[in-house]
Amino acid sequence: MATTKYIFVTGGVTSSLGKGIISASLAKLLQARGYSVTIQKLDPYINVDPGTLNPYEHGECYVTEDGAETDLDLGHYERFLNVFTSQANNVTTGRIYQDVINKERHGDFLGKTVQIIPHITDEIKRRIKLLGTGGKFDFVITEIGGTVGDIESLPYVESVRQLRWELKNRCMVIHLTLVPFLAASGELKTKPTQHSVKTLLEAGVQPDVLVLRTEHPLTSDIKNKVANFCNVQKESVVESRDVNTIYEVPIEMQKEKLDEIVLNHFNIEFGAKPDLKPWKTFLNKYKNPKHEVTIALVGKYVELKDAYKSINEAFVHAGAANETKVNINYVHSEEVNESTYVNLLKDADGIIVTPGFGHRGIAGKVLAAQYARENNVPYFGICLGMQIAVIEFAKNVLKLEDPNSLEMDRKCKNPVINLMEEQKMITEKGGTMRLGSYPCKLLKDTHAYDAYQSAKINERHRHRYEFNNIYQEMYSKAGMIATGINPETELVEIVEIPKHKWFVGVQFHPEYKSTVINPHPLFVSFVKATIKE
Ligand code: GLN
Repeated sequence: MATTKYIFVTGGVTSSLGKGIISASLAKLLQARGYSVTIQKLDPYINVDPGTLNPYEHGECYVTEDGAETDLDLGHYERFLNVFTSQANNVTTGRIYQDVINKERHGDFLGKTVQIIPHITDEIKRRIKLLGTGGKFDFVITEIGGTVGDIESLPYVESVRQLRWELKNRCMVIHLTLVPFLAASGELKTKPTQHSVKTLLEAGVQPDVLVLRTEHPLTSDIKNKVANFCNVQKESVVESRDVNTIYEVPIEMQKEKLDEIVLNHFNIEFGAKPDLKPWKTFLNKYKNPKHEVTIALVGKYVELKDAYKSINEAFVHAGAANETKVNINYVHSEEVNESTYVNLLKDADGIIVTPGFGHRGIAGKVLAAQYARENNVPYFGICLGMQIAVIEFAKNVLKLEDPNSLEMDRKCKNPVINLMEEQKMITEKGGTMRLGSYPCKLLKDTHAYDAYQSAKINERHRHRYEFNNIYQEMYSKAGMIATGINPETELVEIVEIPKHKWFVGVQFHPEYKSTVINPHPLFVSFVKATIKE
C-alpha cells in the first residue's frame, strides 16, 4: 500500500473492556488479508515504562526482543500476529515528558514556553508516526490506554484530534464501549455509550466505528439507536459479545465484518473473507482436547492472574499443540510450607515455579522444587524458578551450608546464585536489568535440545542474578547439568536433571515468545511430559 493508514482505538465507560484484544483481532484480520500491520500502546501513566511497576498494579511486565519492558498488551499483539514488537510499540506519558524535558534542558525549544499543546502533543504524534515511517507497515493500530474522559488521557485524545486533520483520510477512530445488561429490567442499556461518545466529541473526536461489548446479542433497534445518537453508520456499530476464549475474538470480529468496515472506510477494495485456517485449527484443538492435566503454578502474585499472563497463554498454546486441556492450579508460594506442601501439590501433574523478585514466598518455592525433584513430577522453573531449583539442589543434594541467591541474602555462605558482573555497579532501577534477546547454545541429548530441535536459540531475559559458575562442576557431578550456555558470556541459561522425568530450569522467559501459530517448544515439551499415558 502506498501510504500507511492509522487506526486509533479508544475506550469508554469502563476500563478492562479488551481494547488490546480488539486491536489484536483487527490486526489479525488485516494481516490475514495480506497487509502488514503493527500495533502500538500508549499508556497514560507517568512511569517511563512499566518495568518498575509491581505486577499487582497492571499485571505482568512484557519484554520485547530489543529489551523494552512494556505493557502486557504487547504480548497479545505478538501472540495474535506472530510478529515481534519493539520499544517503539509502547509509549508512556512518562517517556513523552522525559523526552520533552530533556529537549528543553538541551535548549531545543529556543526560549519558547514549553506546553502540553503543542510540545507534548507533538511528541505523542511523532511517536505514533514513527511506526509508519519507512513504509514498513500498511496499518498502524494505536491503542490509547485508559478511558476517555480521564484527565491523564486528554493529551492523547487531543493528539488524535490533531492527527485526524493532518492525516485526513489516512486515519480512523474505533471506540470501544460497554452496553450493560440490567437484570432487574431485563434490558441492555446504551446510555453509557452515548455519554462516552459525547465525551469524545467534546474533545473534538468523532468516532468512525463503535465496538460494543455486551453479554447479550444487540438487536437491530439497539444498533440503530446507538448509530443515531452517536453519528455513526449503523453498519459501523459492531457487536462484541463475551466469548469463552480471547482467541475467538478474531473469528467474531470477522463475522461482524470489522475488517471490511475498516477497508471500506479507507476506500480499499477487498476480496473474499480469508479463511483463517491455521487459527481455526488451533481453536479446534483447543476446544476438543483428548487429555487433561493439572499444573500447579507456584507464585506470589497468584491473586492476580494477569501477573502471569504470558505463562497462562503459553499453556493455552502448548495445551492445544498437545490436544490437552491444561488446568492451572494457582498455588500461593507463601502458603506452601512443611505442613501444607504435600496437600497443595499432590494432585499436580507438573509444577511450574514462576519468575519473581525479592524474598517473599521464596521458602515455599524451594519446597515446591524439592517436591517435584524428589517425586519425579515434571518441573519447569522460569527465571527465578530456575534459581530456586538451583538453591534447592544445593541445600538438599549438595548439602552446602546456607546456600542462597545474593538477592535474598547478601551474606549467605554459598551464593549459588550470584549478582551478574555488569550489574554490580548499577544503582538505578529502571531499565537496568539484563533485558531482551540473547543467544544460547544447547547440549545435545537434553530435554531442551529435544524440544527446540536446534543447538542455537535466542530467548528473552529480564534478570540481575545468575547461576554462579564456580559451582558448576559440583552440580554436574551430582546430577544437575548446565544444558544451555550463553556462547559469549558463559552464563548458564538452562539447567536440567537428566535422571528426572522432566526437570528444566531456564534463566530466560520462554513465555514471551509463545504464539498461537508458534507455541513455545519448551512449554509444548513440558505439557507433553505431564500427560499420563
Ligand atoms: N529476581 C531474579 C533476578 O533478578 C529473577 C528475575 C525474574 O524472575 N525475572 O535475577
